Amino acid sequence: MMSSPASPPLVTTVAELRDALGPVRREGKRIGLVPTMGALHDGHLSLVLASQSECDFTVVTIFVNPSQFGPGEDLARYPRPLARDLELLAGSADLAFAPGESEVYPPGFATWVEVGSVAQPLEGAFRLGHFRGVATVVLKLFNMVGPDVAYFGQKDYQQSLVIRRMVADLNLPIRVRVCPIVREPDGLAMSSRNAYLSPDERRRAAVLSQGLGVAAGAVAQGERDAARVAAKVRETILAAGPISIDYIAVADPETLEPVASIRGPALVALAVRIGSTRLIDNAILEPP
Ligand code: AMP
Repeated sequence: MMSSPASPPLVTTVAELRDALGPVRREGKRIGLVPTMGALHDGHLSLVLASQSECDFTVVTIFVNPSQFGPGEDLARYPRPLARDLELLAGSADLAFAPGESEVYPPGFATWVEVGSVAQPLEGAFRLGHFRGVATVVLKLFNMVGPDVAYFGQKDYQQSLVIRRMVADLNLPIRVRVCPIVREPDGLAMSSRNAYLSPDERRRAAVLSQGLGVAAGAVAQGERDAARVAAKVRETILAAGPISIDYIAVADPETLEPVASIRGPALVALAVRIGSTRLIDNAILEPP
């Protein structure tokens, strides 16, 4: 008889984590790390499956990191369905690490990682201190787990650049893999925050990926002017009713500097607010 796979063991302290990983490392196994804030969906699971196929042992961390939320953001209401998350990891992750806040930030905590220019524009400009919190917690998770490979999603494109910069600048012996955005059937990028949307907001949210599609279509048809591409995206999004746009940017995919003319691969990235929910999405535009 086939039995369904068991959820991975859960550890909540760094000491337990190191105890669990000691033998794994001694056996020379390749360790993959997937850092998450939980409320797992197929986007997260795509990273776990990538790790499972490329590594010998996969650690998923689940930690809603307070230091990457600004005042007035959704830290308190962020979903925390830990039991369900562990069920979803059955058969793919080998270990789950869900530390409490004081395990990660003990009293007296005073050391921060500040990444430079790629952390400044876009999300960095709208969420002050966000990437300082991200870089700090990711470096801490790297130091706790000691992975060979770490998996991130292109959904948070700028975050992946910030992590790559940090890994290069601090000589971390870790390979960073960035996996494609997993989307709902109507194109909406999967996100734990989609759960905040009312049915009407959820319907309207499909317009984000439609806007990115319009940008790709314009570039495919020969449009090279970044401002005109951004204007088309804006027009598409605003046609869906009340949506407040934080930014729509066309930028260099490596430096995130704005580009005026699309001559090679360019990032189109956007952030909007639908009701009280802030959503981001992006795509790489490739002129033919
Ligand atoms: P989060 O739990 O939102 O911090 O996300 C954890 C990781 O999953 C990050 O590297 C995200 O970029 C990635 N991720 C989130 N949503 C998606 C998605 N729809 N497709 C691919 N990766 C995703």
